[in-house]
Amino acid sequence: CGIVGYVGARPACTVVVDGLRRLEYRGYDSAGVAVVADDEVRVVKRAGKLTNLTKALAELPPADRMRAAVSGIGHTRWATHGAPTDRNAHPHASADGRVAVIHNGIIENFARLRDELEAAGVELASDTDSEVVAHLLAAELARTAVPAGVGAGAAAVAAGGAAVGGRGTADEVAAPVGAGALDDGTAGALEDGAAGTGLVAAMRAVCARLTGAFTLLAVSVDEPGLVVGARRNSPLVVGVGAGEYFLASDVSAFIEHTRDAVELGQDQVVAITADGYQVTDFAGTPAVTQQYHVDWDA
Ligand code: GLU
Repeated sequence: CGIVGYVGARPACTVVVDGLRRLEYRGYDSAGVAVVADDEVRVVKRAGKLTNLTKALAELPPADRMRAAVSGIGHTRWATHGAPTDRNAHPHASADGRVAVIHNGIIENFARLRDELEAAGVELASDTDSEVVAHLLAAELARTAVPAGVGAGAAAVAAGGAAVGGRGTADEVAAPVGAGALDDGTAGALEDGAAGTGLVAAMRAVCARLTGAFTLLAVSVDEPGLVVGARRNSPLVVGVGAGEYFLASDVSAFIEHTRDAVELGQDQVVAITADGYQVTDFAGTPAVTQQYHVDWDA
């Protein structure tokens, strides 16, 4: 229902929860946040009002690293698949705990994707349509991972073959493996990994396999200063601040911080870091974006 992402210098948990509060008017049944702290994706989520979430966050020890994390994602859920429980609240983490995802909308082909994941031995932890995205991202990240000490060229080769730790179904290989090649050179500083690897490339590959309506945000343990978003048939806006960037389903989530915004187009993926944002389509082709100033009261 409501979606917020943040990368900058301020504590992400606080910024994200404040953003979720600005989206409360839309209605929701659960709320949660995820941040990367100390090589871990940390998720706190609760059914019920935002105060249930803020109470849980307030109970963290004062020195808990989650408080200091400077990038994160948050969600208020309006359940469509699965009851409004703690377990079904977003974010959803992958089974390996390396990725967390939030989702607005409905993944129409989730049952087929869930069956495929279960056949590959993945245990799902919720009844939502959304959770499959976390596991698909983790599988794609594992499949395209660059072996330590190997450069970008080898990574592109690795991305082209299903051999690298992959589940390697024909379907998957046919999916946008080629995106890696398109990334070459055009990716810019934001994609400071090898072409075709990392969370941005994984998001593109996974989105190309989804049907339905989705705004998605994800964080990964391996790329702590990065939040990746994507959309189809559901809104996503970038908030452009000074040394901080926001992603939200609605400008009102970040309007108190910045009024400079960029609307994502259909079937686009965005990456934000503290240094900027980058938008491409699901194949990795850079998109032309237009920044505008929000001069109404959101
Ligand atoms: N379909 C998802 C769920 O039921 C997301 C619902 C939403 O848009 O909040 O968890």
